[in-house]
Parts: sequence; structure tokens; C-alpha cells
Amino acid sequence: MNSNYFDQKKNEFLAHIYSANYRDAEDLYKGLAKITFDTREFSELDQKAINQLQQAARRFRTQLAKASPGDFMSTYEKIRKRLAGAVRQETKNVRLVEYDQWAHKIGLTDELTRIMFKTIATLQMSVGCSISCRRCNEWALPGPRKHFSFDAVTRLISKIFSSGNKEFILYCASDPLDWKCGEKDIVDIIRFMAQNGYKPRYGLLTKIPRGSYDVVRRLLALGADIGFSITDKNRLRAERIKNETGAKIEVQHDFDDLLIAAGLDENFTSIKSSITDSYGTEITPEGAFFILPTFTSALYPTGQCRLSVTQDLKFFLKKKTGRDALPVQYFKPLEVVDLDGNEFILDDLMNAQVANILLDNGSDLLTPPGMMNLREYFKTYEHEATMRRKGLLPVIAKGFIKDILLDEEHKEVSTRERYRHFRRMVYDYSRTCRISDVQSLKINAFSFFLKSISKYLKNHPAEAEIVRFLRREDRQRATIGYKELESLSGPFDELIRNRETEIFELFQLLMFKLMEDPDNEQIRRLIMDYPADASDIL
Ligand code: SF4
Repeated sequence: MNSNYFDQKKNEFLAHIYSANYRDAEDLYKGLAKITFDTREFSELDQKAINQLQQAARRFRTQLAKASPGDFMSTYEKIRKRLAGAVRQETKNVRLVEYDQWAHKIGLTDELTRIMFKTIATLQMSVGCSISCRRCNEWALPGPRKHFSFDAVTRLISKIFSSGNKEFILYCASDPLDWKCGEKDIVDIIRFMAQNGYKPRYGLLTKIPRGSYDVVRRLLALGADIGFSITDKNRLRAERIKNETGAKIEVQHDFDDLLIAAGLDENFTSIKSSITDSYGTEITPEGAFFILPTFTSALYPTGQCRLSVTQDLKFFLKKKTGRDALPVQYFKPLEVVDLDGNEFILDDLMNAQVANILLDNGSDLLTPPGMMNLREYFKTYEHEATMRRKGLLPVIAKGFIKDILLDEEHKEVSTRERYRHFRRMVYDYSRTCRISDVQSLKINAFSFFLKSISKYLKNHPAEAEIVRFLRREDRQRATIGYKELESLSGPFDELIRNRETEIFELFQLLMFKLMEDPDNEQIRRLIMDYPADASDIL
């Protein structure tokens, strides 16, 4: 799995700006201009990252121009022209990508590709989007410039369905109605799926590109599951189609503009929620990528982390979409699928998850409805929650009896093995009902998260600087608590155990301490005194 070079440069550029090292920012920016000129072709991810970098440069132009007035604007213009040239070139010569070409690029064996298909959450059929929403959380490239061929799309769809996966969408940083291959359009793909009995769980969602009336009418005539995502820009178009066809079309969003101030409205100073709530793999005409939801911020401006799938991968992320994604606790190690197709849980957090923890300020505004945030998670260690679990013990035990001891589905499991498993489950649950055990688990949770945070901050200096900047106001607000902590001489375990302590607030304070010094001696001692991994927490 690789992250993107330009993405890394975007982080370093922002880190220089946030720490007021405008000279270093300028040097980096100039170096980047040279690289963009020496680069013959940019991937979709390259272009998104460069667009983000340019947007950041615009946002902080006053500061950058002060350091070097003439140079900054000329570097900005150089990069802008280079990118504009690439866009013109690509959108004029729209390319088709064949299945074999795509598979060769990823370089996985057929067997691994088959396992990967089970984990597909998104099949993005095109690169580029004709709509160009100002607030595109995907930072979609302007104008379609690459499509999977009809043969490639239908082969991919067949293979994904054959793997037992029908929970994926056909778009991401693209609109499905933009897809074209010669005379064929999205209607041919929907017809192909209907003819082959492929019934996807999710329908098409479109912003109705200009000139797509005819396509929409034909989709409706086919009875396709289609929804409109409405903004001020396409409201009239949507009304006209509804009036003309009399069709009942599901309408989503329906705001003046897209709600998250992303894309060209990204200010690189705030943390926002994301439109992404899926985990799994995304396929585009340019490759395959692991996707994890993140907050929308300077660190991950698309509200998700994308890691290229390469031959040296060790696992695939287990697919979690829609309702299945809601119970995912983003701050816990993820479920993955190994290269033999077996599921297991990672030992550690992925970098994007640690970044999420660092950016989670506990506000409900940041978390998608139904998903647990860190503040809620820490409530599960409180006295009341422990007592509630205790009250539920008989019901839970009855459930274990039904699911484990009386399980009819797995008759091959011996009685002895069932009882062993049953006892283990009851024991584990009982631990979560005893105050003293929960106190220990709570200290373990602090140790586990703080260890991951310390490691991340030490190994990712640019990202650490970005996090420090994005949480600057929260850190300032926490000064009073911070001072109290400074005056504490002993280890933090007593404070964590204390029932009066606001757990989430204390966690934030310790996290802020690590932002100042990832090797903070007192926290290091806590981590060493209470070594914990993910299985030692609630
Ligand atoms: S929000 Fe959707 S329709 Fe709008 S530009 Fe982005 S990908 Fe295209």
C-alpha cells in the first residue's frame, strides 16, 4: 500500500505554512513546480493532491507573498498552467481502459483479485466529472478524461457479483451518467445487469449532467433504481425531468449547495465531517485503493484516506458499507481479509485512524449519525454504563447459549469446543460488568491509544504539525486543565481511575501533551506500566 507523493508534499507544504516557515514553504513549492514540469503524466490522485496544494497556496497567499512577493505568484501560475495543460490534453483525448490493462497495472494474481472483489465498495467507472461542484468532497477532476471500456465494466461487474458482493456503487469522484464507451452509455450497463440477474443493493445517484435528459428517460423506462442529488444548480433540471416523465424519483441531499465546505470551499483551518462512511476497496480506471473514512480537513481533504493496492499488500480491508459501516468504531483495529481469504482483526491502528483520533474533538457535528465517536466510546467506561451492562448479563448469556451452545449451523464444532467458547464469551462480558475490571480496561485504553498516538506523531512530523494547527483552539481552551496536569507529579493512572474525572476530557489533555512532546515522560511511564493491545480494551 502506498500513499501518494504529491499528497505527502501537500502535507509538508501546509506544515511549513502552519508553523510560519514561509521560506521553507516557498522552497518546497518551487521544487514542486519543477517536478510538475518534469512529470509527463499525472494520475488522478496526483492531480487531486496538486489541486489541493494550489487551493492551499491561494488560501495562504498573503502570508506566502509577504515572504517572497514576486516568486510566489509566478510559481503558482507555473503550476496552474501545467495542470490546465494536462486537463486540456486529457479531456480532449478521452481514453478507454480495458480490463487486462487495469489488472496488469495492479499486478495481483487472479486468486488475489478474486478475494479483492469481495471487498469492493466502489467501482468508479470514469476519471473526472462533468459537474464540477464547488464543494466536491471528492475533489473530482474537472471533465471526464478516462473511462473503463464497456467490456471492462461488464467483466468487473460480473466478477464482483460472482464473488458474492452486491454492495458496491458505480461512482465516486465521477457521475455515473458521464460514463461513455463509443455509442454505449450507462443505460447499456444497467441493461446488462438486468439481463444477467445482477441486482445491486445500491442504486445510481446522479447530479444529472447537462444533456443527460435522454439518458435519464431511458433509465426510467428500464425501471432503473435511480436517485437525484439536488443542489441549486440542478434543481430546475430535476424538476423538468420529474414533470415530463411523471416518475417518482428519490431525491437526496436537496440543499442549496453541498453541506460540507470541501473542495474549493476548503479553508484548511477547520475539521469537518465526511460524506464517506464506507470501508473497503475502490476500483478506478487507474487502479485499486483501500478506502477508510476520515474527517474532512487539511490532512485528508477528500474525507477519506486512499492507499494504492500494490503487489506487496498483506491484506484487504473488509468491506463495510451503508448500515454495516455504522457499528464500526473507527478508533479500533479494523477487520481485514488475509491473502487466503480468511478474516481477522489487525493488531494495530492504521495511520488514518490515529489521525482521526487526533482530530476527533467529540462534537456530534463531526460524526455521521449512528456512528460512535470517541467521547461516546469513553462513556462506556463510566459507572452507569458498567451497571447497565451488568443488568443485561442474563439476557446476553441467553444469547450466547442460543448462538454458541445450540448453534445448528456449525454442527462440526464439538461440544467441548462450544463450551470452551461459551465460557470465554461469558467471562469476557462479565469483566465489562465489574467496576474494578472496567477501571483496568480504561487504563489499558488510555495506554493503547496514547502509544499509537505517540508513535504516529514521532514518525509523521508534517502531519503532526497539521494536527497541532487544526486543534489549536481546543488546545488553548484546555490550558486550565493542562496546568493542573503539569502540576501532577505522579503517574496518571490514579486520575484515570477516579470516577470524578471526565474521561474524554482527560484523554484529550494527555493527547495535547503528546502533541507538544510525543516522548512525554509521564505518559511514556503510563504506557510502560500498563502495556495494552486492542484486545485489552472495551
Ligand atoms: S460532488 Fe459528485 S457530481 Fe459534484 S463534482 Fe463531485 S463527483 Fe461530480
